[in-house]
Amino acid sequence: MRILLASSEVFPFSKTGGLADVAAALPKALVDNGHEVLVISPWYKTLKSVNDLAPLWIGDVSVPFAGGFETVGIGELQQDGVRYAFIGHSDFDRDSLYGFEDDTKRFALFSRAIPQVAERVMFAPDVVHANDWHSAYLPMILKHGWHLPEGFIDLPTVFTVHNVQHQGVGDVEALTYDMRLPTELEPNYFKHFGTANAMQAALGFSDWVTTVSPTYAEELKTEAYGYGLDGTFRHIEDKFSGILNGIDIDIWNPATDDLLKQNYSLDSSIKESKTIEKIALSKQFGLSGFERPDFTRPLLAVVSRLAEQKGLDIFLDAVDGFVQQGWNIMILGSGDVWMEEKIPELSQQFPERIGYLIGYDEALAHRIYAGADALAIPSRFEPCGLTQLIAMRYGTLPIARATGGLKDTIQHAETGFLFDHMTVEGLLWASQEAVQHYGKATWSDMIKNAMKQDFSWKSSALAYEVLYQKLCIKN
Ligand code: ADP
Repeated sequence: MRILLASSEVFPFSKTGGLADVAAALPKALVDNGHEVLVISPWYKTLKSVNDLAPLWIGDVSVPFAGGFETVGIGELQQDGVRYAFIGHSDFDRDSLYGFEDDTKRFALFSRAIPQVAERVMFAPDVVHANDWHSAYLPMILKHGWHLPEGFIDLPTVFTVHNVQHQGVGDVEALTYDMRLPTELEPNYFKHFGTANAMQAALGFSDWVTTVSPTYAEELKTEAYGYGLDGTFRHIEDKFSGILNGIDIDIWNPATDDLLKQNYSLDSSIKESKTIEKIALSKQFGLSGFERPDFTRPLLAVVSRLAEQKGLDIFLDAVDGFVQQGWNIMILGSGDVWMEEKIPELSQQFPERIGYLIGYDEALAHRIYAGADALAIPSRFEPCGLTQLIAMRYGTLPIARATGGLKDTIQHAETGFLFDHMTVEGLLWASQEAVQHYGKATWSDMIKNAMKQDFSWKSSALAYEVLYQKLCIKN
């Protein structure tokens, strides 16, 4: 099969979160299973070249847009058998990926350009897979867009919801004009209470909708989790399912990870290697509690966007309690300004107990996954979550809220600790449970259980393949 995957970010070229990991790993797994995959993503100013691998400009293409045509550039590259096409335009020539007033228009252009770009790089897909609001207009464009290249009209489409909180809300008239769509679309899933809603358009116009865990698929149909689209999720439930994400087990592998001081695997030196990494981190960030050769303080880490979704407000309120329970704390994250300011304040209050780095640091993240004892993920909602999967692979036990993909992937008191109540008390209850096991044989058993879990893309990619095939046959 030939699969076109559209994503606004793709690791290692661009990344702000888990979507980038998925857009990298799923295509790789599909290619390993004998499929052809083209990933289309914007050519940001900040696009990283990796091992001298950078997109090669192959020319421009004209895209029907905003009452006329807009020219976009195309950069191509190939890695691990996956083809990439990056769409270049002055709209993407900015210092960050998102966060601009004209985001809906920028990504409408991105989505509108995809068929033309695919044609230009001579990729004729059997199925098209769009992801999150940035490429959410693509299924609608393929059903109703004017001036589509031959072979692109009515292609089977899959849309994956990675996070419902961001829906791409804009102005109906302006976006209809920009994307050169007919004004009389009926039913017009594009409209949501008078605004244009990219995500709802994708829910309506895609042939199948997935989200990234079975529990989140159920949660999205409820008012508490649906962010205003719960009614639409209920309406489309016959074409909606949850497929759990995986992780790239080559990138995330403690046995080969060259960012670690000492590699380890299920069969060798787990405790010793993790302790070496923990002590190195503790020294680097000025933490105490590793002076005794037979005991080190448990290290509780956070690797996360600092956002309300992730429940880190509750985590920061629980810091006193963690310190009393005996934890040292290491926080790596960036995001909401008030949290970025509060973390240094808390660290000043407990200088030898709290280390932090405000920012995005891939290498440090690897070392934390290895050196920490537990990873806190007190999310309000979590579509799938990757950090708990990575943590478990590195023998670090997640302490997480029982929601979405966290609930689907962590077994309480077997591979991590789950709590229900979204409160400081709930979180501290779970961290106390963890402390009670720390240093005992049950802790080592849990580490082994966690490391034994298979979170590779193998079975998830297979589930997507089955879905693509079903849609292609129907067509
Ligand atoms: P989300 O996509 O909601 O942010 P996920 O758990 O699905 O959360 O994915 C987060 C990904 O981003 C993981 O690969 C994690 O290691 C990485 N990550 C998050 N914050 C940072 C950071 N500050 N530095 C390095 N990596 C980070």
